[in-house]
Amino acid sequence: MHEILVISGKGGAGKTSVTGAFAHLSDNAILCDLDVDAPDFHLLSQPEKYQTHEFWSGYEAHIRQDDCMQCGDCLERCRFDAIKEEDGLYTVDPIKCEGCKVCVALCPGDAIDFNLKKCGEWYRSHTRFGQLVHAQLYPGEENSGRLVALLKDEARKTAKEYGYEIMLADGAPGIGCPVISSLSGTDLAVFVTEPTPSGLHDLERVAALCDHFRVKGCVVINKYDLNTDMTEKIESFCEQKGYPVAGRVPHSNAVTAAMVERKTVTEYDSSMYTDFAGIWNNVLSQL
Ligand code: SF4
Ligand code: SF4
Repeated sequence: MHEILVISGKGGAGKTSVTGAFAHLSDNAILCDLDVDAPDFHLLSQPEKYQTHEFWSGYEAHIRQDDCMQCGDCLERCRFDAIKEEDGLYTVDPIKCEGCKVCVALCPGDAIDFNLKKCGEWYRSHTRFGQLVHAQLYPGEENSGRLVALLKDEARKTAKEYGYEIMLADGAPGIGCPVISSLSGTDLAVFVTEPTPSGLHDLERVAALCDHFRVKGCVVINKYDLNTDMTEKIESFCEQKGYPVAGRVPHSNAVTAAMVERKTVTEYDSSMYTDFAGIWNNVLSQL
């Protein structure tokens, strides 16, 4: 099985629209939404969940009031300002608690529990394009990299069980922990960019990340016709660095119109279907 990851150096470059088009065009792909902090692939694919699993990761402190001697040591020692006192009652703010365990270790009354916490959920779903493995991390929770790794493992298991030949993943924006985690095992990264100075800058960042981890990449230039000078600059960067340009996508109102109808742009517009069919073939030829 080949693993294809669609990423961009920031959000809003059209990554999910491109992934949606590829999902529509692919014959035998397991789909994976690896943007676990703010997933949006479900808006296009309208999944029907058939499995829901809890995601437990990281720890948080919890004070047992019956055992607390109200000495205030924990409040003094917590560097994250996660402990508060009100009317002599000490409690932990779960949003601020970083799970460093200092208060647990130093509490003279041994009154602080240190429990695994539920950080989110992950799902297996059916979509009209095939199966989807996806997740939702709860607001403010960390460990997104771990959840991404878990999703990829589960997608691989499903792919093996059902004989999928490709894993097509919509990655997280940026170059942080979830993106780094999603690169593991990836055969080809598709960088989606736009013809703006910041688009080029973000492309350079994400390409450098993939170089570092020795992941092969190719480029899709979205809305290329809005600034052809910048498109040329992006293409010359690609040539210099040896990244094939898999395709240029023209600016089209069909993208937004398709989203409103919760469709991929290739389902909505026949000329976009033709454009993306060529791009998808170019991507597959890089494997
Ligand atoms: S350190 Fe322990 S005993 Fe002291 S206030 Fe905190 S929880 Fe209570
Ligand atoms: S575990 Fe660390 S961050 Fe959390 S309340 Fe205790 S000292 Fe503060």
